[in-house]
Amino acid sequence: MAQKLAGKIAIVTASTDGIGYAIAEKLAQDGAKVVVSSRKQANVDAAVKKLKSQNLDVVGVVCHVGKPEDRDRLVTTAIEKYGGIDIFVSNAAVNPFFGPILDCPESAWDKIFDINVKTTFLLCKAIVPQMQKRGGGSIILVSSTSGYEPNAIIGPYGVSKTAVLGLKKALVHQLSPMNIRVNCLAPGLIKTRFSEALWKDSNNLKIATQNIKLGRIGEARECAGIVAFLASDEASYITDETVMVSGGAQSRL
Ligand code: NAP
Repeated sequence: MAQKLAGKIAIVTASTDGIGYAIAEKLAQDGAKVVVSSRKQANVDAAVKKLKSQNLDVVGVVCHVGKPEDRDRLVTTAIEKYGGIDIFVSNAAVNPFFGPILDCPESAWDKIFDINVKTTFLLCKAIVPQMQKRGGGSIILVSSTSGYEPNAIIGPYGVSKTAVLGLKKALVHQLSPMNIRVNCLAPGLIKTRFSEALWKDSNNLKIATQNIKLGRIGEARECAGIVAFLASDEASYITDETVMVSGGAQSRL
C-alpha cells in the first residue's frame, strides 16, 4: 500500500528532540523525505543517526531559526538534497520568561516574539515560492493551547502563540489560491524538556494535570499523527484549522 506522504519533501524546525523530533519521525515513517534541524550540530547528528537506523530518508542541517544564514541553509538543503519543499512544520519556540506579564523585560519579550512569531513568518516567506513551484503544499504552525488561554505564569509566550494562530489566519488568504494549506497544531501539556518545570516535580505535575480530562500529561509522539494527516492529501480540504492535542484540557477562546 502506498504510504500517504510518499514523494513529499518536508522541513521541520527544532526537530532533534521533543515534539519536533516525533513529527519528523512520523512524516518520514509515512514516506516523506525530511530535513531535520536544530541549533546544535551534535543534536542534529544524533537525531539523523537515530532516524536513519529505522531506514528513514532524512538529512540533517544546523538551523537556529533566529539566524538568517541558517534559515537560508535550511531551505537550500531541502532543494539541493531533495529537489523542493511540499511540507513545512514550524515548530521552534522559546520561553525565556516566567512570572507576571508586566514583569517581563523588553529583551525577553523581543526574543519570544522574534523566535516564535517573526521567524515563522520569515520561513514561510522563504518557503512558499518553493511550494508554488511544486503546485501547492501544506504548512503546519505549532501553536499551543496557551495561545487560546495565555496563563498567568507564561503570559508573553501565550500571547506569542495567539499571534501564531493569527498568522495562520492571515496566511490562508494569500496562500489558498496557491493551493497551499495552512493549519495549526495546539499541544497541551506534553512531556518534553521545554515543559520540564511543569512535570518533573510530582507536586507540580499533580497541579498541572488537574484540568486535563484524560488525567495525564501527553507524549510527544501523540502530537505527530495529526501533523502527518494535515500534511497529507487526505487533508486536501482542510485549511485554516487548529487541532488541539491536549487530553481535553480547557483550550478554547
Ligand atoms: P523541546 O523538547 O524543548 O524541543 C527542543 C528542540 O528545539 C530541540 O531539538 C532543540 O535543539 C530545538 N531548538 C531550541 N531552540 C531552537 C532554535 N532557536 N532554533 C532551532 N531549534 C531550536 O520543545 P517541545 O516541547 O518539543 O516544543 C516544541 C513546540 O511545541 C514549541 O513550539 C512549543 O512552544 C510547543 N508546545 C510545547 C508544549 C509542551 O508542553 N511541551 C505545549 C504546547 C506547545 P537544539 O538545542 O539543538 O537547538
